Amino acid sequence: MACEDDPDCRETLQHLDEFIDAEMSPELFAQLQHHLETCPPCLEQYSEYQDLRWRIASSCGCRTAPNELRERIMTSITEVRVTAGFTTLTVRRTEIRAD
Ligand SMILES: [Zn+2]
Repeated sequence: MACEDDPDCRETLQHLDEFIDAEMSPELFAQLQHHLETCPPCLEQYSEYQDLRWRIASSCGCRTAPNELRERIMTSITEVRVTAGFTTLTVRRTEIRAD
């Protein structure tokens, strides 16, 4: 199958950015997730792109937030999304530490 000719592949590759940031509707996210699971060429593009994004993020120098800011953010976060492979876990904080 030629990847560029498949409309699903085109759509997946077009939305890689939003997919990595999970900035899309859950329906579309699930659709792309399913596509990546079943289409090795797209999966390869996806991992290359994600790798590239990490490199850009780590070279821009703004990855480390000042401690005070980080603490404020940490205490205001009540829900954390973790993407591991193809599984997105949503972790809800049941208790916020006051220290
Ligand atoms: Zn594909």
